Amino acid sequence: MRIFNFSAGPAVLPTKVLEQVRDELLDWRGTGMSVMEVSHRGKDFTGVIESAEADLRTLMGIPSNYKVLFLQGGATQQFAQIPMNLLDGRSADYIVTGSWSKKAYKEAQRFGAVRLAGSSEADSFTRVPSADELKLDLQAAYLHICTNETIHGVEMFDLPTAPAGVPLVADMSSHILSRPMDVSRYGLIYAGAQKNIGPAGLVIVIVREDLLGKASAITPSVMDYATMAENGSMLNTPPTFGIYLAGLIFKDLLAQGGLEAVEQSNIAKAQLVYDAIASSGGFYRNPVQEAFRSRMNVPFTLANPALDAAFLAEAAERQLSGLKGHKSVGGMRASIYNAMTLDGVRALVDLMQDFAARKA
Ligand SMILES: *Cc1c(COP(=O)(O)O)cnc(C)c1O
Repeated sequence: MRIFNFSAGPAVLPTKVLEQVRDELLDWRGTGMSVMEVSHRGKDFTGVIESAEADLRTLMGIPSNYKVLFLQGGATQQFAQIPMNLLDGRSADYIVTGSWSKKAYKEAQRFGAVRLAGSSEADSFTRVPSADELKLDLQAAYLHICTNETIHGVEMFDLPTAPAGVPLVADMSSHILSRPMDVSRYGLIYAGAQKNIGPAGLVIVIVREDLLGKASAITPSVMDYATMAENGSMLNTPPTFGIYLAGLIFKDLLAQGGLEAVEQSNIAKAQLVYDAIASSGGFYRNPVQEAFRSRMNVPFTLANPALDAAFLAEAAERQLSGLKGHKSVGGMRASIYNAMTLDGVRALVDLMQDFAARKA
């Protein structure tokens, strides 16, 4: 039986897609093998990676002067790979709006000069710094942001304006494909798959072509974007199962009507949860300033933390899992990615209202 999984990641995947995977697991497209067992260089699999890329390009409207790379190592590896590829002996700017961008900033310090261009840490990461708070380096190699902070539940709906010629680099791991994004505003976008795309082990990098070829000399070949781009992400064996599953997810999103339709559904789901918090008379609380509240990750605390365990126990009874908040924030966190259904969100809101009515 499928439960409602609110985990931040690895996270819920659409049941329909998993059923297709199950149905073709032992005999994929009449090959008599699973997709995991076929050569990545054979035409069956190259067809998979090519259509996954084509569908992602359609979904996101990726311009032709961008490369799409299907890589391994997760978003955390990108924290290192980005400075290795883009720093080019210069400095880079980081805006820190939560745990993930802070980690990216720290990791980049191993590779050269990086600057903190803005931070909301003094406000416990409950907002995005405003334009006039930023101290931007006009000569920076890039400006790094995290457009959705998975742990703190902070989403950027307006992008910072990078100085002319400074490419914006964005960690979109936990909200890529949740709404339309204007790819042309970025130099590089990256996202680990296990939040809103597919299984862990795959990371997608979308990079503007003029940023390729600047990697430092010690960059391993498998970590050099230019080398990976020249080899169609297949310098070595790519994460084939992850790419196959991501491709099925892309087709499913296209069938839903693309990212405009997906966004409407995500707005409706997030609204239900935030309304439940707002109408609880202070029983539940979300600390994030309203303009920056994430549609994907909704952290909330109970006014009386002594009730946390009871809340989680009742959630488990109702087949709702993954609601325990991150240890650094406490309380609860509902991750309501694309694949979380409206029914799942309604079940959560029912629990929240019912629990508050009995315990307030
Ligand atoms: C989960 C997450 C990461 C880390 O992903 P890994 O695949 O575990 O390396 C980085 N950034 C954001 C925004 C995330 O949500």
